Amino acid sequence: MDVKDLKNPRQEIEEAIANGDLPKLLRISGLLHGHYCPGSAIGVKAAARAVRELGGKSTGMEEIIAIVETNSCFADGVQMVTGCSFGNNALIYRDYGKTAFTLAKRTGEAIRISALFDRVNQERSPEANELWQKVVVKRSGSEDESRRLTELWKELSFKVLEIPDEEILNIKKVNIDVPAYARIFTSAKCSVCGESIMEPRARLKDGKFVCLPCSGQAYYQLAGDGMAIVS
Ligand SMILES: [Zn+2]
Ligand SMILES: [Zn+2]
Repeated sequence: MDVKDLKNPRQEIEEAIANGDLPKLLRISGLLHGHYCPGSAIGVKAAARAVRELGGKSTGMEEIIAIVETNSCFADGVQMVTGCSFGNNALIYRDYGKTAFTLAKRTGEAIRISALFDRVNQERSPEANELWQKVVVKRSGSEDESRRLTELWKELSFKVLEIPDEEILNIKKVNIDVPAYARIFTSAKCSVCGESIMEPRARLKDGKFVCLPCSGQAYYQLAGDGMAIVS
């Protein structure tokens, strides 16, 4: 491979959005998400629609930002298709627990899309519902049951892509206050563990910088249950 030949890393995704190739976008999202599921499929569908409506391209430099209202499967479809990710600071997370997201330009021009689950649930077979309870909710399914659910989910995910947008997405043009660009902070060094820390996260102990884990103070954590303070 010659590095000089590398161009826009998102080219394939941008082309698939332009061509309305949702199955391809879902396959690509699977690289990040690890499986095919209705949640990530709805995220893909919503994100592709929002990008088409809003226009603009993401190079991961916060020119376009996505505000997601859930940390469920949906959010991975949104991240992969919009290019707004946890790591490039173009993903803003609001812990509302709603399957919805807003895609915005820096001018505040934005599209908010929320998912309408009634229509998606109609497509779920009784077998899929039963297996979902057993394998995911109760975590008590056998290997075969887990494999079968993966298979049913895969079928359902690609089916979801074919449902007309208006039946599963509530799409609104909005105008929002866009959060400021991520600031670049200087680094401090923890006097206990020696690791480097973004300065605003450093704490003072006996007049010296320490990191949060070494300080023993409370911190924010985003985990499965959402955002919480851990003390
Ligand atoms: Zn999923
Ligand atoms: Zn430390």
